[in-house]
Amino acid sequence: MSIVVFGSIAFDDVVTRHGTVLNAYGGSALYFTAAASLFVPVDMVGVVGDDFPPDELDFLKKRGVTVDGVKVVEGGKTFRWACEYENDMNKRKTTRLELNVFKDFNPILSGSRRKAQYMFIGNIDPDLQLGVLEQLESPECIAADTIECYLKDKPDQFREVLKRIDVLFINDSEARLFTGEHTIISAARALLDCGPEYVIIKKGEHGSLLVSKDMFFTAPAYPVMDVVDPTGAGDSFAGGAMGYIARMHSLDWQTLKTAVVYGGVAASFLVEGFSYEKLKKVTLKDVEKRMSDFRSMTSY
Ligand code: AMP
Repeated sequence: MSIVVFGSIAFDDVVTRHGTVLNAYGGSALYFTAAASLFVPVDMVGVVGDDFPPDELDFLKKRGVTVDGVKVVEGGKTFRWACEYENDMNKRKTTRLELNVFKDFNPILSGSRRKAQYMFIGNIDPDLQLGVLEQLESPECIAADTIECYLKDKPDQFREVLKRIDVLFINDSEARLFTGEHTIISAARALLDCGPEYVIIKKGEHGSLLVSKDMFFTAPAYPVMDVVDPTGAGDSFAGGAMGYIARMHSLDWQTLKTAVVYGGVAASFLVEGFSYEKLKKVTLKDVEKRMSDFRSMTSY
C-alpha cells in the first residue's frame, strides 16, 4: 500500500550544540517521506518556490516516491523556519517562521490522491489540513501531526482536524499544552475523546506512548550516543510508523505497537546528522538491524 503525504517542505536554519546549518532541507513532508519511503511508495503533495533545487528530490524518486504533487511557484519563495536547541535537545525555540508560498496555497488533490488508502498530514496550518481532509473519499487510515504554534493560534481548527483522523502523532509538551492535562496519559485520553482511535505521544529521547480507548503501550527510544540535530525527528518517527502500517496494510494493535518501534528506529538515524543527511543513506536492512538490536535491548 502506498501513502499520500501533505505537509511543509522547507529551508531550515538550525543551531544545535554541534554547530549551525543554514538553508538545510526540511519540512514535515520531506522528513516524513525520507522515512516512510524505506517501507512503501510515497506520493508527496506540497509547494515550494523556484528557489528549491528540483534535483534535491531525486534520492526520493529513486526510492519510488512520486513528486509531481509538489507544486513549484515561479518567483515564489520556499517556506522558511529557524530554531535554536538548548543543551537539553528536547527543548528548542523557534526563531523565525516564514510561510512564503504556503500563505496562498490551496492544495487540490488529483482523483487518485482523493482515493488514497493511507494519508499523512504533517505539521502545517490546520486550515490547510482541513482543506485536504475534506477532499478524501474513503481512506483506510488518516494520520496527522501538528506543531505548537497552531495549537496556540488555531485550537478550534485543530479540534476539527481531530474529529476526522484515525491516528494522531503529537509530542508530549504539545499534548499537555492543548489539553491542559498534567500527565501525558491523561492528555492522551483527552485527545482520544476528541476523535482519533489512536494517539501516539512522542517523548523525544524518552521514547513514545501509544494509547487507544482501552489499550496502552510504551516504547523506549533507540539509544543514540550523540544527537547532532533532532529537527524532523517527530516527522521521521511518523514516517517510520506509518510506512510500516501501510506495508502491513493493517491497523491492529500488534501492528501499531511494532510501528511505534519502527518509528523510533527511523528517528534514531535521523538525529545522528543535520537535516536528513543520515536518513538519506539508510536502507531497510539498516533499519531491520536496529530493530533486532532493539529487541535484545528491551526483552527480559
Ligand atoms: P519536528 O522537528 O519533527 O517538529 O519538525 C520540524 C520541521 O517542521 C522543520 O523542518 C520545519 O521546517 C517544519 N516546521 C516548523 N514549524 C512549522 C510550521 N509552523 N508549519 C509547518 N512546518 C513547520
